[in-house]
Amino acid sequence: MKIDYSEKLKKLPPYLFIEIDKKKKEAINKGADIISLGVGDPDLPTPEHIVKSMQESVEKPANHQYPFGAGLLSYRQAVCDWYKKRFNVNLNVEEVCALIGSKEGIGHIHLGFVNPGDVVLISEPGYPVYNTGTIFTDGVPYFMPLLEKNNFLPDLDAIPKEIAKKAKLIFVNYPNNPTAAVAPKEFYVKLIQFAKDNNIIVAADAAYCQIYYDENEKPLSFLELPGAKDVGVEFGSLSKTYNMTGWRIGWVCGNKEIVSGVLKVKDNYDSGVFQAVQEAAITALSSCQDCVESNRKIYKERRDVLVEGLKKLGWEVSLPKASFYVWAKVPKGYTSSQVVEKLLDEAAIVCTPGNGMGKSGEGYVRFALTVSVSRINEAIERISKIHW
Ligand SMILES: *Cc1c(COP(=O)(O)O)cnc(C)c1O
Repeated sequence: MKIDYSEKLKKLPPYLFIEIDKKKKEAINKGADIISLGVGDPDLPTPEHIVKSMQESVEKPANHQYPFGAGLLSYRQAVCDWYKKRFNVNLNVEEVCALIGSKEGIGHIHLGFVNPGDVVLISEPGYPVYNTGTIFTDGVPYFMPLLEKNNFLPDLDAIPKEIAKKAKLIFVNYPNNPTAAVAPKEFYVKLIQFAKDNNIIVAADAAYCQIYYDENEKPLSFLELPGAKDVGVEFGSLSKTYNMTGWRIGWVCGNKEIVSGVLKVKDNYDSGVFQAVQEAAITALSSCQDCVESNRKIYKERRDVLVEGLKKLGWEVSLPKASFYVWAKVPKGYTSSQVVEKLLDEAAIVCTPGNGMGKSGEGYVRFALTVSVSRINEAIERISKIHW
């Protein structure tokens, strides 16, 4: 029998990080001592008190059944309490839905709102999932370039009127992956007005809101701004904050009708988040946050070593204020892909080509701060020996 994949599946580009992982494994098999600064997956373990909480929860038979629905009331309440504490944002449990990692909701939200031909506004370079959901719903992606001259914020005024009128959904992501940019209040004010004027749902991806380096400049939540809840939702995740990428838990919160739309899709696709994981997430969100502070310290040290090291070698790179990425301009005369290849072949370093996350990423590479300081020093040492 001839197996023929669907047109939509064929339309998807290869999932970048799986491709990078493949190349990395090939090099390891050849005996290379790889330093992996590619995929944004924390190397540090989940804090012990969260693991302990999971161990206790997993023993309870009540947690062994289908979880169903929007998530435990206690989990949703924990998210509400956390928003109040962190952002001074008031939410109620009806405005929160648990997700199997925020990627799940980010990939599924389209099914609730996008009809064939509807435009989805997507910032690029960016997380590939915004576009995946668009392709799966026969939506039409309109890519908003994130350029240095605009502080890596989408230029909403540059979106043609007729595109804005056809748009149903807009994705924004700050602190940003991959550019490490943060969004100021004024941007969100403008975004909310733009969404209102054009009847567009805002989907704000806040996966990195807890990875910041200056106590006095904590990243904002989109929901802090007046009117945000009228037009949109925010996606949250425990993955990066608590080193829980493998656990698969996050949330979508904000506008109740939009949250309900996501839930309706989920009710028909999956049966919820394992309750033991939800209980461990409650522990993470509601107990002492020192583990998050200690994470930030570790990333900060790594960031400083990598950025200073690259600068000394003549790379053009600015110090990120948030996220665990360093967005570096490639040496003159090279493309992103050429630099990625050179770093892998000549220094056994894995990083992400900027253009792999969108065409405006050409000319950059992304380094993830997910290895120890000594390995970062080693990486700098190796890069210094490359002949450009
Ligand atoms: C890592 C990441 C996520 C989500 O992660 P989950 O593990 O699915 O919660 C979402 N958005 C961006 C931009 C990310 O980098």
